[in-house]
Amino acid sequence: MFVSDRERERKAAILKVGSEVIWAAREFLQNEGFVELLPVIVAPLTDPLRHNTDRAVIEAYGGHWHLTRSMIFHKQAAVSVCAKIFSFSPNIRVEPPDWKETGRHLWEFVQLDLEVRNGSREELMDLGERFLVHVLSRVKEQCWAELEALGRELPVPKRPFPAFTYHEARRRFGEVFEVKLSQEVETPVWIIDFPIDVREFYDREDPKRPGILLDMDLLYPEGYGEALSGGEREYLPERIRKRIELQGLDLAQFQGLLALAEKGLPPSAGFGIGIERLVRYVCGLPHVAETRLFPRVPGELSLI
Ligand code: AMP
Ligand code: MG
Repeated sequence: MFVSDRERERKAAILKVGSEVIWAAREFLQNEGFVELLPVIVAPLTDPLRHNTDRAVIEAYGGHWHLTRSMIFHKQAAVSVCAKIFSFSPNIRVEPPDWKETGRHLWEFVQLDLEVRNGSREELMDLGERFLVHVLSRVKEQCWAELEALGRELPVPKRPFPAFTYHEARRRFGEVFEVKLSQEVETPVWIIDFPIDVREFYDREDPKRPGILLDMDLLYPEGYGEALSGGEREYLPERIRKRIELQGLDLAQFQGLLALAEKGLPPSAGFGIGIERLVRYVCGLPHVAETRLFPRVPGELSLI
């Protein structure tokens, strides 16, 4: 699989760092009172996603089941049972083949998806910052030899991270600001207040500022791009219905979610952070595929 000892050693170092990232993430969330749920892999409905991702559907027992693209709706339902939950959730997103070139996309990846009942965006931003600082510090402590072998000097950022609104980011860094902004900054940076028409229907519209969402992205520095997306959620059935219709989506497709909301979904906020992207950033790698032993690269076939 790996032709030279050097390649094997490099891969082993990356996998060790990846394993430490997962331990550190679990440790942090457990100390914060989160309960880990086993992931949902197939479901009658999954994240609709605005970008052009082919649907992966299987048939079983006379029904159609989507392979998970994110656990968003399951997270919203789960916090009615446990106030803080997380899952290492495998996601299948059949991304366009040319997204191979971004360095950031796989078509099978793992998202650490978490949600907090009655959480606010600001609380989740605070949690996200403390999460990242904890994981980076722990990995530096435990994996200094691997990081050295990979030639990576990993800075641990100071909190609070700076924040730009979506409009500020676009004004200063252009229409596709993700990579440009991420190249310019020296610490992770938040993007907040996305306009309603560029995000999914489940991000909550600010009741005080119609058309603006109570959501956020975190970008890594050094050009590594988006780390996580999250926000407060729409939880009232009439609001969810209105937002689905606003996006021109088929209400029937989301009847399961609407039925749950009619029974009562709690208000919540959360985020999902891509594990491979986090490991890529920690190790300072050119492509996210390097973080996996069996990467699923958009547009590529695989022997195993
Ligand atoms: P999203 O809800 O689409 O923002 O996804 C949540 C997080 O998962 C993103 O912020 C990324 O860190 C990660 N992610 C999303 N799509 C991919 C992908 N195709 N490959 C690897 N990581 C991804
Ligand atoms: Mg995102």
